Amino acid sequence: MSVGVAILGSTGSIGCSTLQVLARQRERFRVAALTAHSNADLLERQAAEWKPAYVGLVNGESREQGAGSGASCLVEAATRADVAIVVNGIVGAAGLEATLAALRAGKRVALANKEALVMAGELVTRAAREGGGEIVPVDSEHSAVLQCITGRRPTELERLILTASGGPFRTWTPERVAGATVEEALRHPTWRMGKKITVDSATLVNKALEVIEAHFLFALPYPAVEVVVHPQSVVHAFVEFVDGSVLAQVGFPTMELPILYALTHPERVPDAGARRFDPVAAGSLTFEPVRPDLYPAYGLGRAAAVAGGTAPAAFNAANEVAVELFLEGRIRFGRIAETIARVLDAHRPGDAGSLAAVLATDAEARRLAREAACS
Ligand code: NAD
Ligand code: MG
Repeated sequence: MSVGVAILGSTGSIGCSTLQVLARQRERFRVAALTAHSNADLLERQAAEWKPAYVGLVNGESREQGAGSGASCLVEAATRADVAIVVNGIVGAAGLEATLAALRAGKRVALANKEALVMAGELVTRAAREGGGEIVPVDSEHSAVLQCITGRRPTELERLILTASGGPFRTWTPERVAGATVEEALRHPTWRMGKKITVDSATLVNKALEVIEAHFLFALPYPAVEVVVHPQSVVHAFVEFVDGSVLAQVGFPTMELPILYALTHPERVPDAGARRFDPVAAGSLTFEPVRPDLYPAYGLGRAAAVAGGTAPAAFNAANEVAVELFLEGRIRFGRIAETIARVLDAHRPGDAGSLAAVLATDAEARRLAREAACS
């Protein structure tokens, strides 16, 4: 019997990579549900190829028979009886409710949508505990950590070092970065991804989100989650154990491996399509500290993490709004970090133990961010 997979955000970068992985694993997995935001044409082509039992289009009318629509189609797809694994490849806060619903329904969530865990880490981990669901990271750094710690006891784990490529502005001056264009910000040196995460990689907000993600996934305090800049993106993370031993997971940058691993963890299955590692082709591997002057938003994210409660949700919402405005050409690159700083200055962190509190923080931070960004 093959395992039923729902792909939320099937038309995006993670969604398309997931289908590429599944095309080589047809005997193990079957696509039970696909959802997208508004790309009806691509969704239709995917549905024609994969014949899922359920298709959902959030924004617009799908021509598929019996297709779901509106935001509720995400929860419908994620909680279906014929779905065992939900790949959440939605970008941003829109992915939160489906993640909670899937975990409460006892599903495995292969989670690329890190924003959900950042906004509502307590709620998401509680939903998994209470519903019997399981969160398995798709993010390459967290997949690397999981691969290194699988089979070990949590008490043996001491410290994580996540790697960051440093993005396209690693060698620029802070003054030049502040005026970077959209085109320059979207020119990522090592990864091809959706626009939002590509901008997040240029500000290093992505790494701050990943620090928070790691804190909730692996139950580590923030000082034990470090970051190092590694421009080649070959080492995905280092894991230090209590005896001082360090393991790392390495490979050429591709999301297909972490996606496949999230589907099969703790097992590994053959994958004929995977690009094999070659250390000589990888060449020299270098590591540098994070420069706070170059990536001010990274420090803001770490501070929000330590503040805890609703602060990470405010950080995430402010960033989502600022990135959108930047991509629309309405604010300069340097304004992204400034906007986040203004929102966090105004935010009084509260308890993040209820969905209502998290969503209220999200809405208020978005309002403040729009005001701060454009004034
Ligand atoms: P993307 O922009 O390429 O795709 C986003 C997908 O989400 C699309 O299918 C879109 O239809 C859907 N979507 C967007 N808004 C939605 C909404 N309001 N409701 C429902 N669906 C909506 O983004 P991506 O690069 O695939 O990233 C997706 C997530 O995975 C992000 O959280 C990102 O941080 C994470 N991630 C991506 C990569 C990567 O290599 N692309 C790597 C690690 C983590
Ligand atoms: Mg990552």
